[in-house]
Amino acid sequence: MDELQELYREVILDHNRRPRNFGALSDANHVIEAVNPLCGDKLTLYVKVGGGRVEDISFEGTGCAISVASSSLMTERIKGQTVGASLELFAKVHGLLTGAGDAPEDLDKLAALAGVREYPTRVKCASLAWHALKAAVTGTDGKPVTTE
Ligand code: ZN
Repeated sequence: MDELQELYREVILDHNRRPRNFGALSDANHVIEAVNPLCGDKLTLYVKVGGGRVEDISFEGTGCAISVASSSLMTERIKGQTVGASLELFAKVHGLLTGAGDAPEDLDKLAALAGVREYPTRVKCASLAWHALKAAVTGTDGKPVTTE
């Protein structure tokens, strides 16, 4: 395993052990339920959008290390971003998970998620929280998000 892969592995393990922004958000104005039946990952994403910006964001749920770490990394990175920037990041991460190219440099720690590309069934674990985010900021909540 090279140094970069080792670093990525550490990022995933750290965010799984100590998820950031974990817990309900009482003043959320978007609440998204998301499930990945293939793995059993379940999460609830709480988002407070105001003034075109993600003012606050948190999540609760259970799932594999990849889904929890991805949710944690996503909330850490998205908090405070504009809706437009959030959708751009969604597109970049989606491209990273499903494409073959190098990670764009500005993804920073999110590049750690690229490790799942070698395991196609894990891509849905990593993308679940991001699909929930997209549903929240585009106002299509109300429908549960599912990977199937
Ligand atoms: Zn999973």
